[in-house]
Amino acid sequence: MSFLDYAPAPESTSILHLKDSYGLFIDGTFVAGHGTPFASISPATEQHIAEIASASAADVDTAVAAARKAYEKTWSKLSGSDRGKYLFRIARLIQERARELAVAETLDNGKPIKESRDVDVPLVAAWFFYYAGWADKLDHAGLGANPRALGVAAQIIPWNFPLLMLAWKIAPALAAGNTVVLKPAETTSLTALLFAEIVQQAELPDGVVNIVTGAGETGAALVRHPDVNKVAFTGSTAVGREIAKAVAGTGKKVTLELGGKAANIVFDDAPIDQAIEGIVNGIFFNQGHVCCAGSRLLVQENIHEEVVDRLKTRLATLRLGDPLDKNTDIGAINSREQLDRIRELSDIGEAEGAERWTAPCVIPENGFWFAPTIFDNVSTSSRIAREEIFGPVLSVLTFRTPAEAIAKANNTPYGLSAGIWSDKGSKILAVADKLRAGVIWANTFNRFDPASPFGGYKESGYGREGGRQGLAAYLTTAAAAESASVRTSGYSRARKQAETRTLAAGEGEGK
Ligand code: NAP
Ligand code: MG
Repeated sequence: MSFLDYAPAPESTSILHLKDSYGLFIDGTFVAGHGTPFASISPATEQHIAEIASASAADVDTAVAAARKAYEKTWSKLSGSDRGKYLFRIARLIQERARELAVAETLDNGKPIKESRDVDVPLVAAWFFYYAGWADKLDHAGLGANPRALGVAAQIIPWNFPLLMLAWKIAPALAAGNTVVLKPAETTSLTALLFAEIVQQAELPDGVVNIVTGAGETGAALVRHPDVNKVAFTGSTAVGREIAKAVAGTGKKVTLELGGKAANIVFDDAPIDQAIEGIVNGIFFNQGHVCCAGSRLLVQENIHEEVVDRLKTRLATLRLGDPLDKNTDIGAINSREQLDRIRELSDIGEAEGAERWTAPCVIPENGFWFAPTIFDNVSTSSRIAREEIFGPVLSVLTFRTPAEAIAKANNTPYGLSAGIWSDKGSKILAVADKLRAGVIWANTFNRFDPASPFGGYKESGYGREGGRQGLAAYLTTAAAAESASVRTSGYSRARKQAETRTLAAGEGEGK
């Protein structure tokens, strides 16, 4: 250890009291699953954490039946303010158990503790607080009078932000009056099961939240279940496509939040120090396992060399290693499969002629790791410029004019997010206006707020999560407003027309 090295600062795991094995959470209790149980391991050490039950199609059926019963008997009978009280209670319990949840997430997912502690878990609580506040105000969500819940929501989430994606799904669904069956990703079930304990602690009526763990087949059985009214999915575009096919013609409402290949555009008048930090945060946050990651750096040609040099200097200071260490910047890759995929695409990038640079990190002996990597001089047609790598790999391209930056940024099958770095507000607004991306950050990146809608264009999926718009995905809107307007005497035509216009504006492009 040299004079300037950091001493180890491991977060204690003593706050975690994990069980050896976890069942499925159905109708308020943990029950055995009928599939073959599987192990959850720590991707940083490959050590066994706990055994997780696997839900068979029959178990999925039991969970959906529990959610249906809860919807009809209890949850749909409660007032919005009573639903809100439960959600506030859940939000407070998340805050109370924040440290435990952060440690569990880091252990199971491999992300640095400073991210799970300072980003994931605070946002999880924020999401529940935010939607708790909406539960008694649905009439004011701009969806027309008297919007109604859909019924039972099937929710399938990925492994990159396990607890946060659960919050994005469950909080608006419950606030809107639906009950849910949620399937976490196979490699990261742990915090969903701790959340099930929180649901018990909050004394949420039985069956309102059900968690079925298992592999892709469990998810497929849930999507196809005939008594599900709504499917919400976050994950790969390939599985999203299968889900779209499976629900086509069934009348189930669906939202898909899929992949991305975001452009992070740096103009020569940008504040360079901040831009360097923004580029690093854009692609190396959460090991690049982020659907909206700024994985394509578009840098103006005259500052290209300077930006890449400074990036390399900055990346050489990042600390890769034990995710539970409070000084760690880059944690473990979530699974061996994901590591293989990152390696394969990176090798393709090199074979296609891009210049590869790897940060000088010491890679731990066990576990799954990939050092921060930059590919320079990447051509627009290269696979690493087009496909989602979902790892700590940045592709660098250049442009000369704003028009070229816009054309290159939009030259992707995806359209989830983008970043713009410039000193000039007018330039930022003019460029943002022409980018086909659901979320555009200016002089910042990867900022999330429950009040702000999030979602994509093109192959990045459809529907919005977050904000008022995120409620619409869990409510019947126009039809309910229409029938309500017939029932409600004195309902003015003008107000109805105004609401129809708001709806049209809110559900424009990108759906
Ligand atoms: P994935 O296969 O799409 O997994 C997402 C979720 O869907 C998981 O819970 C998964 O279960 C489940 N699932 C798998 N097959 C299913 C099916 N046929 N029907 C219903 N549910 C199904 O994603 P992945 O394999 O974890 O990652 C592959 C790639 O997807 C990544 O390399 C990345 O490019 C992209 N990805 C994007 C996001 C995002 O936030 N947009 C997140 C994760 C991954 P299992 O966990 O058991 O497979
Ligand atoms: Mg795991």
